[in-house]
Amino acid sequence: MNVISCSNSKNVLEVARKKIESFERFTVEEAKELYFLPLADLGMLADLRRKLLKAPAYGGKGAEIVTYIIDRNINYTNVCTTYCKFCAFYRTEKDPDHYVLSVEQIEEKIRELDAIGGVQILLQGGHHPKLGIDYYINLLHSIHKKFPHINIHGFSPPEFLHFSKLFDLSIEEVIKRFKEAGLGSIPGGGGEILVDSVRKRIAPLKCSSQEWLEVMRVAHRLGLRSSATMMFGHVEQLEDRLEHLEKIRNLQDSTAGFTAFICWTFQPDNTKLKVAKKGPSEYLRMQALSRIFLDNIENIQSSWVTQGVEVGQIALYFGANDFGSVMMEENVVSAAGTTYRTTVTEIEETISRCGFQPKRRNNGYQLLN
Ligand code: SF4
Repeated sequence: MNVISCSNSKNVLEVARKKIESFERFTVEEAKELYFLPLADLGMLADLRRKLLKAPAYGGKGAEIVTYIIDRNINYTNVCTTYCKFCAFYRTEKDPDHYVLSVEQIEEKIRELDAIGGVQILLQGGHHPKLGIDYYINLLHSIHKKFPHINIHGFSPPEFLHFSKLFDLSIEEVIKRFKEAGLGSIPGGGGEILVDSVRKRIAPLKCSSQEWLEVMRVAHRLGLRSSATMMFGHVEQLEDRLEHLEKIRNLQDSTAGFTAFICWTFQPDNTKLKVAKKGPSEYLRMQALSRIFLDNIENIQSSWVTQGVEVGQIALYFGANDFGSVMMEENVVSAAGTTYRTTVTEIEETISRCGFQPKRRNNGYQLLN
């Protein structure tokens, strides 16, 4: 693939600006050209897309507001039989530090979240080979009954595929039962790169790209909304990232069930996948390109948890309109050597310092303050 020449880059920039101003869609080929623009130009285009897409939101103030949510990441078990090569979190049942949290332990964590005004838990875990459906249904029922105001943003397409096989139920039946028990929405975890040749190299036992998309299609049909994600910067090529984005965009055209898109770079520490860590420039470039390409997904989250608060701030000028979560607890990327934490006050100051109004939100991106 050739890097576009300087004179050509000016043309690409001008054409792209006009397309964004008239709310036009970019093809994969066009996105490939945009990728090679100077970083500042790509950021400017993403910022323009963000402003135009968000402007009508929140009574016409959408372009000036950056949202965030107070939630807590609860990983109910670290036991997993899928052994993804990029994962530093999983343990086997033979490892001394493996665990399964009880309902009581999880509810204690939710009580702490409730005390600081949290509105959501991100409930995810490994693919435990023995936990039966009763564990999950009891857990969801109990949380929903005691904390009806806390949204359970739970599990992920690979977990649902694991449940479907283990419980011998269809995906639809599992999602229906989980929803009835209190599940409120589904995170887009386990998407990584939705190209099977890449998935086979980094997570050979995990679900296929088609299966991931099908779980999301079923969930959206059953009335559960979800986020979409992309973890990049490992063995994939640019073409794979673009194919991933195109698959997400196509599904969104058909279901409109994705509330937000979040991308981050692979965090390699303590994992079996030995590749050099990608820096902030590559992260910002892909986030900006995602904002421009995913014209049918309203919200883009800045991934400060993996990139650090300062890069998270810059990401607000590269297409992000949301600062994600205060994250009372985070175990998965911290296992891979990356630990960034913040508080409500810090997050609001961080957003304000970038010239935006910080506003707290719920899972549906409705404002809470
Ligand atoms: S990423 Fe998820 S599925 Fe893969 S090994 Fe880690 S916990 Fe298991």
